Amino acid sequence: MNVVLRIAAAAALSALAACETVQTTDAGAVGVTRQQRVSSLVTAKEVEAAADKQYDEMMAVAQQKGLLNRNQQQVQRVRTIAQRLIPQTRVFRQDAPGWAWETNVLTSKDINAWAMPGGKMAVYTGLIERLNVTDDELAAVMGHEIAHALREHARERIARQMGTQAVSTIGSIALQIFTGVQLDPQLTGSVGQAVFVLPNSRDNEQEADTIGVELMARAGYDPRAALTLWQKMGQATGGGGPPEFLSTHPSGETRLRDLQGYVNKVMPLYQAAKR
Ligand SMILES: [Zn+2]
Repeated sequence: MNVVLRIAAAAALSALAACETVQTTDAGAVGVTRQQRVSSLVTAKEVEAAADKQYDEMMAVAQQKGLLNRNQQQVQRVRTIAQRLIPQTRVFRQDAPGWAWETNVLTSKDINAWAMPGGKMAVYTGLIERLNVTDDELAAVMGHEIAHALREHARERIARQMGTQAVSTIGSIALQIFTGVQLDPQLTGSVGQAVFVLPNSRDNEQEADTIGVELMARAGYDPRAALTLWQKMGQATGGGGPPEFLSTHPSGETRLRDLQGYVNKVMPLYQAAKR
């Protein structure tokens, strides 16, 4: 074994030792029950505090550059959808409706949206405009991102990436982990630019898809829009290559087929919510 591999193996072992199993959500109608593996060295509270700090800094930079909430109609639109989705999170975790949720619209050509642990969200104008999304499709992408936050996927990714490093190092890798994507340097400014991108794991994506469609269905948004959203996403090009979002959210036939199954499962919830 070469040196690099030996170090990696040692890190993996110590990371394993510092791991614990948690269950951050109830199963919901879609039945998400996988146990999550997080680092016992990093609590949910610490992750959330780091996320809040990063979010505030990022919004301040966006504000300075005139890229924050420029179009009030768009802002109202995403906040209305957030307000309908958030109460539905109670099905998965009791504490979530009480989080300090916040939703802002960032001006960027990127097709992108994310939710940080603790409920700080951003939707990019590129997603709204370039995909010409309907309200249902916006609810699909926001529901998906909220699901990542509910399941604390960021904390799992931190566990995988940090191993046994000190909590203080969260900051340096936080942005990319919290947002799941490489950030637009224009928006991050002094916050620092994420330099690497790891795709979300397949497990995490499946969970976000399943929980996401249940959230939107319960909020009265047509879950079938999740399918058209991903189709639009897959077809979007221009500005050089596929949407940034797809680099961390690998799509394809399998995903769409699976998604169709989850949609069928939550259709009765949608029908009930519409009445
Ligand atoms: Zn995702």
